[in-house]
Amino acid sequence: MKKYIKIDNENIEFKNLLSGPAQVGRILNYIIYAGEGLLRHKPGSRNDSMENNIGSAWCIEFMIGLGLIELDSKIGDTNVYRIRLTSSGVRIYNILVENALGPDFKHDSNPDRTLEYLKSKKALNIVNVFEEVFRNTIIFKDLCIFLDLDNVNTDEIIIGKEDFMEGIYGELCEFYTNAPYVRNGNGASTASNRVPSLLQLLYFLKYAYPKDGEIHFVKKSLVNGIFDENYKLDISDEHLISEYKKEEKIIDKLAKEFGIAGNHIVNEVVRLSQTQLIFKERLKREHGCRCWLCGIENETLLVASHIQDASKSNIYEKADNNNGLLLCAQHDKLFDSGLISFDFQTGKIMISKLLSENDRKLANINETMKLDEELMNDGRRKYLIWHNNNFLSGNNE
Ligand SMILES: [Zn+2]
Repeated sequence: MKKYIKIDNENIEFKNLLSGPAQVGRILNYIIYAGEGLLRHKPGSRNDSMENNIGSAWCIEFMIGLGLIELDSKIGDTNVYRIRLTSSGVRIYNILVENALGPDFKHDSNPDRTLEYLKSKKALNIVNVFEEVFRNTIIFKDLCIFLDLDNVNTDEIIIGKEDFMEGIYGELCEFYTNAPYVRNGNGASTASNRVPSLLQLLYFLKYAYPKDGEIHFVKKSLVNGIFDENYKLDISDEHLISEYKKEEKIIDKLAKEFGIAGNHIVNEVVRLSQTQLIFKERLKREHGCRCWLCGIENETLLVASHIQDASKSNIYEKADNNNGLLLCAQHDKLFDSGLISFDFQTGKIMISKLLSENDRKLANINETMKLDEELMNDGRRKYLIWHNNNFLSGNNE
């Protein structure tokens, strides 16, 4: 058995990871409906026509697995749930709205046509965001493990369509349910109707293409992605982009002069102070000049705090605002020492048991605190995973 990654989150189930059918076009439609507050989830529903705002349950489950939407409260006594967009979902929704795209992706059975349609509307930014979101999911990571991407020497990995569908579904099914996968066993949870959602997405992103009953996985795209660097910045203001580029130049220069990791202790001081200045400026620009936890505004008290320990970050990571939080001195110390952290999925504060009730009160922290939703982008989540893993829960220490 390969080492798959299991998601540890009560809101995500195995069926969310490999559900279907969830065509890309339908996913985009549902993001719009969810953004307008019109999408509802009824477990088991096969309704594709959105009667009473209820969508196809399979598609909704897959979107939960992709981290685009979350289930909200139930409606009255029914088993129908409200749906809300996650921060990733909001990002895609905003681009759709900016480009005046309504829920009319009728070409949803064909991923190439959906891509062409986005191109014709000059809304390719959606592909970039979609890809970024997808690459951070357990679905994608487990796919790479299934394809054994680290050890493949060829440009393409060719697998028969049936072999792939049964193979990945079978292995993950066994991994998640601890029971062998039985083709045509009880229930409809078969590979043939679940894995195609994943395939659709892979075709859409050009990570794979079908040919003669086989699937050709393109190693280069899977490893490097198809990102367009110009879209990756995700900053619309032109002034900010030019500031950002100026700063990148300074960092490039420093990296060239002193190396990315930096071994010269004297030079390290010069290099770090410049990087740290840029880092702090970026944080202030991103979310305002105040402690992002308690709101204190006096700048003397504010520290640009690294999420992934600065000593573990290279120069680019040190200057990456996604790797940072602007915090007051006290909250910086608590965060830096691992006595508090923020859940990489929800942004909710995690407080160490090592802190007494009284100290919590004096340090002005409590369980209801969380990072602002708009800070929870995928880049920052990635660094928060590192921090969560280094959190001193106080359970075993
Ligand atoms: Zn504070």
